Amino acid sequence: MRLKAPYETSAGTEWNRRIILVQVFSEGLSGWGEVTVDETPTFTSETTETAWHILRDFLVPMVLGKTVSGGSDVGDLLRSVRGHEMARAALEDAVWDIEAQRNNLPLSALLGGTLTEIPCGAALGIQLSHDLLFEKIAGELAAGYQRIKLKIKPGHDVGLVAKVRKTFPKIRLMVDGNSAYRLEDASLFERMDDYDLEMIEQPLWWDGILDHAKLQSKLKTPLCLDESIRNLHLAKEAFELKACRILNIKLGRVGGHSAARHIHNLCVASGIPAWCGGMLESGVGRAHNIAMSTLPGFVLPGDVSASQRYWEEDIIEPEVEITRNGTIKVPKGAGLGYTVRVPRVEQLTVRRRTWKDTSRISFAVVGRQN
Ligand code: MG
Repeated sequence: MRLKAPYETSAGTEWNRRIILVQVFSEGLSGWGEVTVDETPTFTSETTETAWHILRDFLVPMVLGKTVSGGSDVGDLLRSVRGHEMARAALEDAVWDIEAQRNNLPLSALLGGTLTEIPCGAALGIQLSHDLLFEKIAGELAAGYQRIKLKIKPGHDVGLVAKVRKTFPKIRLMVDGNSAYRLEDASLFERMDDYDLEMIEQPLWWDGILDHAKLQSKLKTPLCLDESIRNLHLAKEAFELKACRILNIKLGRVGGHSAARHIHNLCVASGIPAWCGGMLESGVGRAHNIAMSTLPGFVLPGDVSASQRYWEEDIIEPEVEITRNGTIKVPKGAGLGYTVRVPRVEQLTVRRRTWKDTSRISFAVVGRQN
């Protein structure tokens, strides 16, 4: 699927997204999951192709034909696999979708979610010019988004923040460094303390919890971890070391709904506000994010936004829309609450693998469309 516009972060620029969807069949129902991975190993170590390999050669054979009571059992079946969280999440989350349909519940309710609308922020990639950035910020605010997140990279950071803050003195504003900085850059972040940022997201090395703790101790502004937190144990380490005061929970990055819920519960118990980050998902991943974001600890606006911010045409219906107040209304239908547009998915599919057994699992890479 081609993004409406290229998305630039400190890790590079994306325009075309090859997306792996997993569809699981059981008892006449089917559930969908999405591998929320990048093409390159620049966010975590996973890529589209490693996810395909891990699903095909390990994960699918581990669950095929097995009896499970629901999504959380899938995590147990896959327990011996180290890492590869995004590949695991897609498979587990598809089963959560089935479990919700089987119980005739919205997935949000099955997970224990209580919010009926979720607050939304807009994440803006690095833009070609400041004027273009200001124009985009004004547009997102006019659309209702409750906070603005700016991607930063070395040479494109504190000066930019100062300019944006001067133009938009009152808005909820945050920045995301995507691990482009080192502890030696601490003074740069100390200068950001002057601009009333809601948080600074993952400025330092992608698995560097200790360095984030050292940086957080120097700052008034809360740090928020993203890339570093890939499971519950790492979240515990980060909170005990005081490496952050806010957590971005991404469903794929932590391995699916079971782990996400455990981490959410830890956040609530630790007094750490959580929010849901985005990975340029198609509608399937977006729908899973919406369900997760209804848990009561997701108190800050997330990066889950309208389908139309990213895609000319999404693969679910209805498409995800935001209200004038900058919220998404949580769907009330069973399962994901959105219908996957199978003909559209078929049209975009460039690779497929199907298993037929006592259960049947298929997944497909959705590729470039001209
Ligand atoms: Mg981030």
